[in-house]
Amino acid sequence: MTNLAGEDWFRNPALTRVLALLNSDGAVGRVVGGAVRNSLLGIPVSDIDIATTLRPEAVMERAAVAGVKAVPTGLAHGTVTLVVDGTPFEVTTLRRDVETDGRHAQVAFSTDWQADAERRDLTMNALYVDANGDVVDLVGGLADIDSRTVRFIGDASMRIAEDYLRILRFFRFFAHYGSGRPDAAGLKASAAARSKLKTLSAERVWSELKKLLSAADPGRALLWMRQAGILTEILPESEKWGIDAIPALVGTEKALGWDADPRLRLAAIVPPDAERLAAMAARLRLSREEAGYFSAWATAPAVADDMAGTAFSRLLYRHGAEGIKVRLKLALASARVRAENGGVEDMQRAGRLSDLLNRAERWQKPVFPLSGADVLAAGIAAGPKVGETLSRLETEWLDRNFSVDRATLVARLQEIANG
Ligand code: ATP
Ligand code: MG
Repeated sequence: MTNLAGEDWFRNPALTRVLALLNSDGAVGRVVGGAVRNSLLGIPVSDIDIATTLRPEAVMERAAVAGVKAVPTGLAHGTVTLVVDGTPFEVTTLRRDVETDGRHAQVAFSTDWQADAERRDLTMNALYVDANGDVVDLVGGLADIDSRTVRFIGDASMRIAEDYLRILRFFRFFAHYGSGRPDAAGLKASAAARSKLKTLSAERVWSELKKLLSAADPGRALLWMRQAGILTEILPESEKWGIDAIPALVGTEKALGWDADPRLRLAAIVPPDAERLAAMAARLRLSREEAGYFSAWATAPAVADDMAGTAFSRLLYRHGAEGIKVRLKLALASARVRAENGGVEDMQRAGRLSDLLNRAERWQKPVFPLSGADVLAAGIAAGPKVGETLSRLETEWLDRNFSVDRATLVARLQEIANG
């Protein structure tokens, strides 16, 4: 029997307290899902979900008696969040599906562990750990963890028809934890049901896609999704562009210590077309910040790798660094693979792009020392002339690489005002 009692996350006194509270007087509570899976895979455990035979009201009552904070975060679907020493634990009553329509499930509370396991999506996500640390495996999840096989519980096409988001979850978990090829039955059922992805809410799709794109290496998952026609279904922008840039990007991230940024990975597989990207952002309901990232990228000017430092500073000043950094990162990644294939020129080009990127990373926009008030004080009447004069002086200041000080600019302004 596999036992996780010795694992640090399991020995956390806050968890011990929650499990003690749920495991008395005939009731049972067990850790389930991602925490068990990650622990068995040797990956750090972050949030801990718990399944229990107790009804949500009973969980609330027990928490009140024990002096544990309980928040009714989702009473209707059976979830109470218990908070101990600042750590939240989502405690959910065992459930079985009564009705599903591909997007929502109607559930009934139960005390049947087998039914609770079987309504989950993948075998590796349906493992429990009881209060003694023993792993309870009701669906063959342990063997699949060992072989890193991402597999649906039961019949893949039936499970997908219950909730089409599971197509994306299948590839997300494959991207993170799978090895070799995706499970054949899951792949086939996903491909067959792909046209149903458009019935899902944009928020759920983007949230899954983002998690998939955050995997250490999403390359293989994307390749299979593309071959199965699934990527085009959720991301038609990627159809002509392709996903060939992903391996170079992932390799560069590793070599240069960049964070795995799902936005940058997405930028690598869609064209830098402002209009299409705005439509993509609206369709997938990207946050304002995420949408801003893509529009900054698409509207950023192309940067020649041999650009002079002063010209580059002016570019950063005019366009902001954000979009230029995205362009440089993608260009650098592709120059680095070409350099690996032996091109001395590409190696030099990669070196120059890397220097430009470092400068862009350190860039702080200088503040133009004059304002409209200065122009008015110099005697120019309020009106379009004010803005014109300011922008003329700003250009002179830029052309001298930001080195003209305020006093000189004021004198120059006076000259202009005096005609
Ligand atoms: P992580 O939080 O690391 O992304 P997780 O496995 O905890 O992974 P969650 O999305 O938090 O994933 O879901 C918790 C558990 O609920 C899953 O492990 C799975 O058992 C079940 N689950 C979640 N979404 C679905 C779904 N769409 N269909 C079936 N079961 C699901
Ligand atoms: Mg989770």
